[in-house]
Amino acid sequence: MQALHLWTLLATYAVAVGQKQGQKNQECPKLNAQMPEFQKKTVHIKDPGRVEEIICGLIKGGAAKLQIITDFDMTLSRFSYNGKRCPTCHNIIDNSKLITEECRKKFFSFQLLQLKETYYAIEIDPALTIEEKFPYMVEWYNKSHALLIEQGLQKDKFAEIVRESDVMLKEGYENFFDKLSEHNIPVFIFSAGIGDILEEVIHQAGVYHSNVKVVSNFMDFDEHGILKGFKGELIHVYNKHDGALKNTEYFKQLKDNSNIILLGDSQGDLSMADGVANVEHILKIGYLNDKVDELLEKYMDSYDIVLVKDESLEVANSILQKIL
Ligand code: C5P
Ligand code: MG
Repeated sequence: MQALHLWTLLATYAVAVGQKQGQKNQECPKLNAQMPEFQKKTVHIKDPGRVEEIICGLIKGGAAKLQIITDFDMTLSRFSYNGKRCPTCHNIIDNSKLITEECRKKFFSFQLLQLKETYYAIEIDPALTIEEKFPYMVEWYNKSHALLIEQGLQKDKFAEIVRESDVMLKEGYENFFDKLSEHNIPVFIFSAGIGDILEEVIHQAGVYHSNVKVVSNFMDFDEHGILKGFKGELIHVYNKHDGALKNTEYFKQLKDNSNIILLGDSQGDLSMADGVANVEHILKIGYLNDKVDELLEKYMDSYDIVLVKDESLEVANSILQKIL
């Protein structure tokens, strides 16, 4: 009888210690009660129960199983600050004073008349399907990249171009990148922007840690450091679905990282993890910055969490806080 009592005591103690040690990996939080960041007005969730289940799966998998797949422009970088639009990687160059006046005229008429009014409008047009948008995106990139090449951009000017630009990362970016680096969580930044500019932005922000891999449109320079073209196949807003297939080596190494947090702002970003072989849990967080009324329902149908006009990484950070 006494032995049985001692055994019960020991067993209870062992369970209690086990729970304490693995506490972070066992808790399944209720969104609003235990994660106050979810009470913000910017947060829209179609199925909170499902989101709780996914977060629970991510918590149970812990750091060992986690990887991040994220877009860059308007997801990690801000859409606006104090009511003013912030630049994309492309816009950082478009707006730079290092672009000659002649090109600026050409660029600006192109920008204002076609690029902004036509192509960006097409990118976010709620009435068009991705298939219908696709050829226009290719046209946009081809035209704008041809203009950049014509301009003879110098690689050694990029640091200055970025430093003098209005680009800003989202609030809480230090916490986001530092925590992921501290726990060595792989971060795949998959951007249809310009890789060289993107790398300079995160380098200047001090968050280009060794766990971060950037896949984007990288420039090709001649022996004098003058832009002569772009390397590899074009990545545009709506062809991100074959990213994993084109980066097989990277994802092969991460075959055990079967829990994914995906962050994006476009509907094209939803397919960024397509082709990743082993997916146990995936949480898709989407920033909806523009055409909110027309697109909210569509976004809520496809992203697990939709963040409307939200310029922070608070929600992602609160989830990381529970997992790591
Ligand atoms: O990093 P992300 O994939 O979001 O980068 C793509 C963004 O770059 C698009 O959302 C698009 O609006 C923008 N873009 C631009 N100028 C171009 C081509 C794309 O501002 N010439
Ligand atoms: Mg984007």
